[in-house]
Amino acid sequence: MKTFFALLVIFQSINLAHASWERLSTHITQSTYQDIIERLTGVRYIVTKSGVGKVRDRFAPDNMNLIRQYLIESLFDVGFSSIDSELFPMSSQGKRYWEDEQERPDGQNLTVEMEGRQHDQEIILLGAHYDTTGINRPGANDNASGVAAVLTIAQAFRKAMVQTNRRLLFFFFDGEERGFAGSRRFFEKARRRGANIRLFINVDMIGHSPQALLRASYDPRPFKSIGAFIEEVNRRFDLGFRLEAWREHMSDNQSGKRNGFPTVSIFEDGRQKNDFRTITYPYYHTPEDTLDKLDLQYATEVTRLIAGITYAAAETEETWETADFSCARYLAGHFNL
Ligand SMILES: [Zn+2]
Repeated sequence: MKTFFALLVIFQSINLAHASWERLSTHITQSTYQDIIERLTGVRYIVTKSGVGKVRDRFAPDNMNLIRQYLIESLFDVGFSSIDSELFPMSSQGKRYWEDEQERPDGQNLTVEMEGRQHDQEIILLGAHYDTTGINRPGANDNASGVAAVLTIAQAFRKAMVQTNRRLLFFFFDGEERGFAGSRRFFEKARRRGANIRLFINVDMIGHSPQALLRASYDPRPFKSIGAFIEEVNRRFDLGFRLEAWREHMSDNQSGKRNGFPTVSIFEDGRQKNDFRTITYPYYHTPEDTLDKLDLQYATEVTRLIAGITYAAAETEETWETADFSCARYLAGHFNL
């Protein structure tokens, strides 16, 4: 709760934005987050218009269909009127999962948007991947924790009817576990059509530990200032982020970065090949990545922080050219620090 009040205090100091943030943050609660993540991890039944069931993974085609239907209905329920659903062939790295190539299902990205008030052509994208690595792998931390955060935040923006200066995109990627297939598809197309994505915030594994294991990875060259901004927010929220410029978090952020978009990835470390110093979540990519390993109060606090970063990035009046965006000016002007 400490973080929650710290957030309130910080955002209370924003003059115009104060009321919006307060409305937004009241919808980011542990009970909302918990309800979502229990359904994503097969602890509770998913009930949709087209089917009912518990999902033991987000891998088997039947489970994926139910999960997609759940995400779509959860977004429609709070008033999103159109959901973009893009089917794409899974990358070749998917082949090892299916004996018969004919059985390889398509991937499917899901997106909803909220129009910007003034700078509608400038996009702030918040995304998480919803697939897991295999049958009976519920992927509670990787990455139901991130999906629940993005869905909770998307719903909060709609419920609170908060519109920001920039356009907001909430993204649910498929195929991250198979070569970042969904995000690669999306960002390659975005680059070709010249989409003005000002920041992609990727969320992948945020729910396990209240210790200082959460990291924010970013590329300092195009986006030094957003790193400094998150660092400042982090310090004041006392959440114990470790910020790592340049660190190669292997997740959908790679797709954003490779296509030239400013990207921040918020994550907990899993077991990484050839880097045993970073073992902090031993259940990574195993059937034991289950909901009981997570700390849902902590995950909700991290979700609030991510909501704050998303809101601030979408709301600031700064022109926000990547080269000269001034963190100090932003903080001084909008957070009254
Ligand atoms: Zn992941």
